Amino acid sequence: MATVEIDNLHKSYGALQVVHGVSMSFQDGEFIILVGPSGCGKSTLLRMIAGLEEITAGTVSIDGTVVNNLSPKERNIAMVFQNYALYPQMTVAQNMGFSLELSKIPKAQITAMVKETAEILGLTPLLDRKPSQLSGGQRQRVAMGRAIVRDPEVFLFDEPLSNLDANLRVKMRAEIKALHQRLGSTIVYVTHDQVEAMTMADRIVVLRAGRVEQIGTPLELYDNPQNMFVAGFLGSPA
Ligand code: ADP
Ligand code: MG
Repeated sequence: MATVEIDNLHKSYGALQVVHGVSMSFQDGEFIILVGPSGCGKSTLLRMIAGLEEITAGTVSIDGTVVNNLSPKERNIAMVFQNYALYPQMTVAQNMGFSLELSKIPKAQITAMVKETAEILGLTPLLDRKPSQLSGGQRQRVAMGRAIVRDPEVFLFDEPLSNLDANLRVKMRAEIKALHQRLGSTIVYVTHDQVEAMTMADRIVVLRAGRVEQIGTPLELYDNPQNMFVAGFLGSPA
């Protein structure tokens, strides 16, 4: 488990500035949701936290240590994407163990780690299947398994459910919440779906055009939106 702090983070792509001095800190074990319209910089922020995107200015700290110069692996962060391409030629077990193999972890230990993760996610009966033999929800679960198997301190999710149909999305929300409770890890979760934000988050960060509009619990934001943008976005009656 870990605290994450970002301080005055800026990002420019060439002349285009897309993140304008964002600061926030997440507590150990907190489920944080970043919401905001398409293009407001959610994915860019997440990638900077993960170490997948160069930081233009500002700092990312984990457990009080600045990690700007650390690789994603060194940050002990795992990210689950919307387009979670699984390796089609590998089984579920191989997909989940692959990154551990790259880390030169002994085979027997990998098998044990994969088994334990599969147990948590209800994937045990599917370990020998190929991705083409899985449903959408099962594939998404394998994608989460690949992240969990590394036992990261921080999970980043970038719109992980946006490719699933509405029914499955509701089911997976509950599964992710249950998983969070079980693992106790810090989760930063990006979505543009207001319902997802209101029902899943401990705290919500509302972003607009690369700036923070408001941070608070779902109830705080709903009852006391700071402006019309937040009210409109979260559907409060203000
Ligand atoms: P969101 O995830 O909230 O939809 P993004 O973080 O993907 O937003 O994008 C924020 C802004 O940065 C958008 O205007 C987008 O076009 C731009 N952007 C994102 N990635 C790149 C890139 N690699 N090069 C140039 N512009 C980019
Ligand atoms: Mg995005």
